[in-house]
Amino acid sequence: MQPVHKSQKLAKVCYDIRGPVLEHAKAMEEEGHRIIKLNIGNPAPFGFFAPDEIIEDMIANLQNASGYTDSKGLFSARKAIMHYAQEKQLPGVGMDDIYIGNGVSELIVMAMQALLDNGDEVLVPAPDYPLWTAAVSLAGGRATHYLCDESEGWLPDLDDIRAKITPNTRAIVVINPNNPTGALYPDWILAGLVEIARTHQLIVYADEIYDKVLYDGAKHTSIASLAPDVLCVTFNGLSKNYRACGFRAGWMSVSGEKKHARDYIEGLNMLASMRLCANAPGQYAIQTALGGYQSIDDLVMPTGRLGRQRDLAHKMLTEIPGVSCVKPQGALYLFPRLDPEMYPIVDDQQFILELLQQEKVLLVQGSGFNWVAPDHFRVVFLPNSDDLTEAFGRIGGFLENYRRR
Ligand code: PLP
Repeated sequence: MQPVHKSQKLAKVCYDIRGPVLEHAKAMEEEGHRIIKLNIGNPAPFGFFAPDEIIEDMIANLQNASGYTDSKGLFSARKAIMHYAQEKQLPGVGMDDIYIGNGVSELIVMAMQALLDNGDEVLVPAPDYPLWTAAVSLAGGRATHYLCDESEGWLPDLDDIRAKITPNTRAIVVINPNNPTGALYPDWILAGLVEIARTHQLIVYADEIYDKVLYDGAKHTSIASLAPDVLCVTFNGLSKNYRACGFRAGWMSVSGEKKHARDYIEGLNMLASMRLCANAPGQYAIQTALGGYQSIDDLVMPTGRLGRQRDLAHKMLTEIPGVSCVKPQGALYLFPRLDPEMYPIVDDQQFILELLQQEKVLLVQGSGFNWVAPDHFRVVFLPNSDDLTEAFGRIGGFLENYRRR
């Protein structure tokens, strides 16, 4: 029999959050080991469930949800999304500018497939949520990574962005609040990004899936609200703000200057039609979620579970010698740095694998987020305080041994 090879299209595609170390962890679990998982931003297994009213409405609508919906999505859900776009001051978002997908993930892939020809470039942050880089590569494009500056609270480095623009650059991706750094961008940075997009005619892809997961009373500005004259595509969904990842309900809203983008929008419409529609029960949850009680606000308060766990995780990590970390202002993650003098790591995947094998704690290495050096890892602070405390104790012990090597 001829060997069956994967497509050449996948040659440059990489998604390490669910990569080889996770496979190793699964095998260890099958052998009976208990592993503390600080690796995936999936709230439900840690007791963060979707609000009851969403689930009740979804159940009540299950029978209606047995047919296909419009390819762009249910009218009532898109209407609620349109109102949310108005609340966030996204300019010129009508019903036809909204696309509902099986999570934001599907729409990211779709948006890149509709845009890119071989050799086109997209500016993607480093570190990034790696689906963006993977989706650009899968579509035949090239992700050019622009630096986010840790010494400046992980804000995008505008000079680095300008220096990386070429005649092939088509778009810029902005992840705010950021995964993996937890950074929340102030308006002056967003305005700087818009200015660059305007000058170089770039499309802005704004991934704002954590726009309600904000700490210390912070406020979120949608970059599209500052860019009425720039084509922006803003992504959001139920996965994080409403702890409903499994419902696979996400959306994208096209705003700003659209006249010159009719052909691209036609491409988006075609791809939306080709997959018929997004999962309908998940769509029925959207209106209730957006219009209902915003219980995320209780969780992110200093006394709320997420607020407390963020503080605990940051404190415990930064007490370990040689570990520094910008305190996250949003999202569910920390992206700490290991001092390379104390921890001369060469291969950060190997480092994370050794930690897993020795301490039964699962993290994701910084290079999994297209970070440029083997000196960072990502921590998810969803596990409860007892598990976090145990995990950081074990990480501290592992690092102490590592220093002595
Ligand atoms: N964008 C970011 C920044 C994320 O962190 C995630 C999931 O972790 C996604 C998109 C994917 O979200 P969804 O569940 O809507 O596909």
